Amino acid sequence: MTPTLKELKGSEYRTVDFYLSKSCNKSCHYCTAWTLQMRNLNVDMDLVRTILKGLAPYKTRICLLGGEPGLTKNLDEVIAEIKKYENLIPQVLSNSLVRKFYPHILEDRDIIYIEHLVLDFYQDKIEKLGNYPFLPKNDLNNYNLIIETPGYFKYRDNFDLTEIDHENTEFKEYNSRSPDFFTDHELVQAPELERRVCAKFPQVPVFDFEIRKIRHCSRKAINGSREFDITVENITKMMNYELFDFEKYCTTCMDIIPKRPKMRRDEITALISKEVNLLDLMDA
Ligand code: SF4
Repeated sequence: MTPTLKELKGSEYRTVDFYLSKSCNKSCHYCTAWTLQMRNLNVDMDLVRTILKGLAPYKTRICLLGGEPGLTKNLDEVIAEIKKYENLIPQVLSNSLVRKFYPHILEDRDIIYIEHLVLDFYQDKIEKLGNYPFLPKNDLNNYNLIIETPGYFKYRDNFDLTEIDHENTEFKEYNSRSPDFFTDHELVQAPELERRVCAKFPQVPVFDFEIRKIRHCSRKAINGSREFDITVENITKMMNYELFDFEKYCTTCMDIIPKRPKMRRDEITALISKEVNLLDLMDA
């Protein structure tokens, strides 16, 4: 049975993103990869099969997004293909359009469905991306994703939001991807060791179906992440920490580097120690 999000946290599963199409029906001001043009809405299944062949030996959560995945014409086909592999878990991240075009996804416990329904909170209102209520507590692996922006806290001060206080809501710290984060937060760069660990296997490498490449770092989706051809050989290298390196943009990266599960961090640190003197990095 597909694990819950709680069970996946800290587990051996790694996550990769599929940018199926950059098309979206919304234009969120903080989004890094979207266009209102409707394009590439038929996902190339040959490319999907190549990627899945490469990922198949490794426990991997595949996050289907875009743009808005609910716009793609053959989302069901992509999910059915992923489900053929024991090690692979499909996850869909939608602004709620999936509820309209693919409602059965929410009924299927083996697909993790995460809904990013809120554009932003304000002192007196919530601006939503779809005309739906928040998801209730459920055992179908459906989750609300709530970004704790400054507006979220202001709204909570004035209104009752207990309807989202349950295990099917993921609260995400307001972070450096948010538009005005840097006006409110002091910039502190993560230690070089953490950035080097991240660079070997970033939180989310991206399979970009528009340019048909693997992008090293999703944080650099627009501004120049290194790219690699999508081949089984490259995917195998990626999953064994042999494809990605500490890039120039990692030296200046100011992103918050999420904590890795200990086993993964130890594996990567052991590899890095062959490239650089770890004691130097720890002293830095
Ligand atoms: S740029 Fe930052 S987030 Fe991206 S791989 Fe490098 S260290 Fe990680």
